[in-house]
Amino acid sequence: MPSSKEIIETTEKYGAHNYHPLPVVIAKAEGAWVWDCEGKKYLDFLSAYSAVNQGHCHPAIIQALKDQADLVTLTSRAFHNDQLGSFLEQVCKLADMQMALPMNTGAEAVETAVKAVRKWGYTKKQVADDQAEIICCNDNFHGRTTTVISFSSEEQYRQGFGPLTPGFKLIPFGDASALENAIGPNTVAFLVEPIQGEAGVVVPPEGYLKQVREICDRHNVLLVLDEIQTGLGRTGKMFCYQHDGIKPDVLVLGKAISGGVLPVSVVLSSNEVLGVFNPGDHGSTFGGCPLGAAVAGTALNVLIEEKLAERASDLGGRFKDKLQGLTSGKVELVRGKGLLLAVVLKETAGGAREYCEQLMEKGLLCKETHHNIIRFAPPLVIDEKDLDWAFTLIKEILG
Ligand SMILES: *Cc1c(COP(=O)(O)O)cnc(C)c1O
Repeated sequence: MPSSKEIIETTEKYGAHNYHPLPVVIAKAEGAWVWDCEGKKYLDFLSAYSAVNQGHCHPAIIQALKDQADLVTLTSRAFHNDQLGSFLEQVCKLADMQMALPMNTGAEAVETAVKAVRKWGYTKKQVADDQAEIICCNDNFHGRTTTVISFSSEEQYRQGFGPLTPGFKLIPFGDASALENAIGPNTVAFLVEPIQGEAGVVVPPEGYLKQVREICDRHNVLLVLDEIQTGLGRTGKMFCYQHDGIKPDVLVLGKAISGGVLPVSVVLSSNEVLGVFNPGDHGSTFGGCPLGAAVAGTALNVLIEEKLAERASDLGGRFKDKLQGLTSGKVELVRGKGLLLAVVLKETAGGAREYCEQLMEKGLLCKETHHNIIRFAPPLVIDEKDLDWAFTLIKEILG
């Protein structure tokens, strides 16, 4: 077997350089732990950006994958398959929604939500052709396709990739009155993350979502929540919006819906909104495939049976307290909910990347977001003693 160093060289030589990974090569994983090619063990504190909430290679999910792989993996939606209906029913009941549309990646699900709310605007809100407007927030992250980057405020995400898709307006995150002011007659939807994960785990002010819900209702604007990262137990509730006692009109899920095994995403909404799609309007060859449906159905069962949302709430609450108790000249602040946490470093502390590299050396895999923020998001199945061990390492580096 080639060494980690050789594998990195081959990857860098033949792969486009659209990522800057830490120099670790993972060859095996189980639960919250991963191993490199030389057999060194690391605690995973990123969980593939919250896609492996259920832990790596969860035995029940892998069994569902193997069992379904022996039967049928892909039919396309030209035919029915025996797995999709029950999976859609399960996810609709979980989110208290009427209808779901399955896709693969998160960005595709966001694209699907954009198409759904635009068509809803034209057919139900009587917005004039091609005039529909969607409001989004500064520092959002919703994926990397051309339309989705069209409403990014991150210069690097857009630069060189134009012409961009029109029809989006940006407002500050966490400012409900900015939403009220931005809404016009052609506004069909407000698309927002309950907590901005990629922006550095930015939590909006208390009561924000409640105000946003009320404003959207008053103006007949659909509230679309992107819970691709915050959903499915991560923040200590099954869905992050449950902290605020509201419900969105459209919910976008991805990542952990398959426990990190396959790309599965869904858009959930009412019959009125998703009913705008007629045969031929939209589709995906792999979206809704029996393999994805079987795996995702099992991955949702694992979240429920193992009470992973409660676990995220308990463990995350205690871990956040510990981080906040750190007396450190390097930490500006600690923020987040459940097991979606971040440490914001002081200007004087230097870049977050170097701390991530030091933590990697010690056996803890974290990833910086922006130059001064480190996100802590382990699999929700992590043992409390492993979290304690991680804290001692973090204390050594940042304390
Ligand atoms: C990861 C992510 C996406 C994009 O998902 P992909 O599967 O990478 O396309 C969209 N929105 C949020 C909030 C995310 O965290």
